[in-house]
Amino acid sequence: MTVPAISPATSRSEWERLWLELTRRCQLACRHCYNASGPHRLAGTMTSADWHRVIDQAADLGVRELCVIGGEPTLYPGLATLINRAVGAGIGVEVYSNLVHISDDLWRVLAQDGVRLATSWYSDDQQQHIAITGRPTWRQTRANIDRALELGVPLRVGIVRVLDGQRIDQARAQLRHMGVATVSVDRTRRIGRAAEAGVGPLGELCGRCGDGRAAIGPDGEVWLCTMARTISAGNVRARDLADVLSGQAWRELRTTLPHRNTDAVECKPNGDSNDCAPAEKQSCDPSFCNPDD
Ligand code: SF4
Repeated sequence: MTVPAISPATSRSEWERLWLELTRRCQLACRHCYNASGPHRLAGTMTSADWHRVIDQAADLGVRELCVIGGEPTLYPGLATLINRAVGAGIGVEVYSNLVHISDDLWRVLAQDGVRLATSWYSDDQQQHIAITGRPTWRQTRANIDRALELGVPLRVGIVRVLDGQRIDQARAQLRHMGVATVSVDRTRRIGRAAEAGVGPLGELCGRCGDGRAAIGPDGEVWLCTMARTISAGNVRARDLADVLSGQAWRELRTTLPHRNTDAVECKPNGDSNDCAPAEKQSCDPSFCNPDD
């Protein structure tokens, strides 16, 4: 089946991106994880039928890309079917994975047109990787980055600043040497496991949450962004996605967020690692920019 490749934003729909957070579970337990994911977290209550209904509703809305995240989305048993359903509906899919383990069957799904990968990388030093992720998975992730490149799966990699003295420059050079074309660097957001006393989660947002994007959590709650998870506009297990996104709660949430005046600044606050790319378009907060990029 030939499907449309992921295309740049156009004016045909206001909905550029929808994150689907399939599970809170993860093999890793990264110290900066915005979702505080880990091996012992619960997966979530959304069923496969719920996710498929959401995908169909997203297609009706003209959503251009789904970003499938977690937790670790490859731990969600129905991932392949979900991807195929979205691609079949003409929606591009980005899978944000830690790339610790990808089955051969899943590689075949990832290698089709309309699908791309994203992952996080921290250091060329294995001990720094362990200090951040909590598990000795440096080699697995590196091998799967190589595999994605071999298979021609579009891949972007985000480096997150987590540690003092973290070998950011060396990590970026290593990725370039491996052949990764798209590498970005971001700071840790003080959300989830990285939360700090006295820092409210809303202050960590770029301010354009909900602007052509929305996120759905593993229990069906609809958020303005994966980072804005403390406030829900409704639940897709009870209401249609379009109904939630046009509802009063959604509009009120958007007006409550602090917007920042940064018209001239373009930055990509992605690479919060699986922190997933919270906003793949112009952001409002220049502090999220990496001046080295
Ligand atoms: S940052 Fe990503 S890989 Fe790390 S624990 Fe969270 S979901 Fe897992």
